[in-house]
Amino acid sequence: MERFQQEQTDVLIIGAGAAGTRAAISSAENGTKTILVTKGPFGKSGITPVGFEGFSGNFDQPGDSPEFHLEEVVRSGKFLCDQDVAAVMVQEAMDAIQYCDALGVKFSKRDSAFEPFPTPGCKVPRLLKLWGGGMALLSTLKKKVEEFTAYPSIIDVREDTLISKILVRDGRVYGAIGLDLKKGVVRLFHCKALVLAGGGAGHLWRHSDCPPESTGDAFALAAQAGVKVVNMEQQLFYPTVGLFPPAIKGLEISYEWCLNKEHPELGGWLLNSKNAAFYPENEVGTRDFITHVMEKEVVEGRGTSHGGVYLDVTGVSEERKELIRRMNYSYKRLLQLGVDLLHEKIEVAPAAHTTLGGVKIETDCGTNVPGFFACGEATGNVHGANRLAGHSYLDTQVFGARAGRSAAEFAKDADWLPIADDEVKSEYTKIFSHLGWKTDGIAPCKLKEEIVQLVGTYLGPIRDGKGLTRCVNEIESVEVSGLPRMDAPETFEYNYDWAECIEVSLMCDCAKMVAKSALARNESRGTHFRKDFPLTDNVNPVQHTVVWLTNGRMEVTSEDVKLGKFQPTREKIPPF
Ligand SMILES: Cc1cc2nc3c(=O)[nH]c(=O)nc-3n(C[C@H](O)[C@H](O)[C@H](O)COP(=O)(O)OP(=O)(O)OC[C@H]3O[C@@H](n4cnc5c(N)ncnc54)[C@H](O)[C@@H]3O)c2cc1C
Repeated sequence: MERFQQEQTDVLIIGAGAAGTRAAISSAENGTKTILVTKGPFGKSGITPVGFEGFSGNFDQPGDSPEFHLEEVVRSGKFLCDQDVAAVMVQEAMDAIQYCDALGVKFSKRDSAFEPFPTPGCKVPRLLKLWGGGMALLSTLKKKVEEFTAYPSIIDVREDTLISKILVRDGRVYGAIGLDLKKGVVRLFHCKALVLAGGGAGHLWRHSDCPPESTGDAFALAAQAGVKVVNMEQQLFYPTVGLFPPAIKGLEISYEWCLNKEHPELGGWLLNSKNAAFYPENEVGTRDFITHVMEKEVVEGRGTSHGGVYLDVTGVSEERKELIRRMNYSYKRLLQLGVDLLHEKIEVAPAAHTTLGGVKIETDCGTNVPGFFACGEATGNVHGANRLAGHSYLDTQVFGARAGRSAAEFAKDADWLPIADDEVKSEYTKIFSHLGWKTDGIAPCKLKEEIVQLVGTYLGPIRDGKGLTRCVNEIESVEVSGLPRMDAPETFEYNYDWAECIEVSLMCDCAKMVAKSALARNESRGTHFRKDFPLTDNVNPVQHTVVWLTNGRMEVTSEDVKLGKFQPTREKIPPF
């Protein structure tokens, strides 16, 4: 193996967004040798840097408590989260916020006390304004990491390194392997414990506000390693994302500031192509609900020619206009792009925003594979079938800290598992099989386009069994006829075509995981709506869909959700 390098670390963290970076800090605070890998540049890669300005906690507001917070998370997630795991998130919310505050993250404050704002789905104000959004959060965490990277380093950062396989032996994780884009070598990381913090799969959908690299690698990597991946059918769409004109496509426009439940006379409107307001008056719902009513307009033929609806805030009160000007990040962005939200209605459509499904974790972020931990958007049993505003950052910080700590503790007592040379050789050969033009070669970007097309057609917010079966079959045909033909020119350093070949293989698995899980969930729940099963089934025990990938075969099973104090009423009900 000519172009091959290997290194060793106690803890390996895959992903350097808000979750992975927080995990690295917590592993290093335990004095544990840690490597942090990211497929792009550190501080600029993943969903976190494009994230907006909401960070939720629970404050000393009248009527609030961690228990009430948990109830709202569970009800908003339609009982699909494991309540012991979600409980950790709300119980440790304030520790996480105070930790970030002490690092220098700037939150909304009044007289030096945190100043939370109301959000849909929460009866008490819980959302802090995080000044500078995800980029500010990540750059502050990055600064802290840099304290550990100085010689002799506790954390080493490996940028531009795309992990293609996680290595498991005798049922325990012992490393990961991938392409080091900078050097054009295959790099093996030998470790005692691993934290997967690879973010979400938003960019499997054409209409998405996520960056192009969020291709869902983490879910495929985990499933291939024998880790339980749950609820992959649950993809959260952000309802009001710019659709037309092209300059605003993919830009999230915070409906939380544009529509207003407490003061409907102040709020804006969602209009269909006939200029009729269709959004229920006096109601600003959670994201799953608004997405559903918008998508219904489009599916039933009342959408715009581009497949969206209009957001109209031109007639709102001066008071609300002022609030939009002051608080709504997207208002300023839109102005820069030549669109004045306060003077013209704009075309919007729900866009893939956050992947709610993912790795099933326990409260310590451990999984069914010893030594394998996960955190952040890569996990799948924290929020359930919908996520409340500002709860992703919260999740990344609470579980990032826990995952890093748990991995460090695991590594302390673990011995080194020997490397399985045949497995490494086989992955090396697979990675290199893409290099060099083939006679029947196919561009990886063409296959990416085909997958995105299939996902967009069959895996939107409203689905049915027939379409889902077609989707699975068509992805499988891309897999069989397309993947082996992908090729890239034979150059080594920064060969993005080469990296894309790896990404497309993982994307294919991820898309199939979403389609198969959606097919297995014979009910409508939260963000997942089945036309052929339009009710939420709370008569039978609430179930996680669980995807398994063994020897290239994908199976979907199910297991009971860990309910707790909060139980649904045992009935079949319309989801909204
Ligand atoms: C437009 C937008 C606005 C948002 N606003 C908010 C908000 O205001 N509040 C809130 O709470 N949430 C918000 N979210 C959601 C939130 O930003 C994300 O859920 C969260 O930042 C995810 O963090 P993460 O660390 O889990 O993943 P990411 O930030 O996506 O990081 C993933 C990391 O994994 C790496 N990676 C992926 N695959 C591989 C691989 N194969 N090999 C090596 N590395 C890999 C990536 O390079 C990256 O470093 C928003 C999302 C979007 C899209």
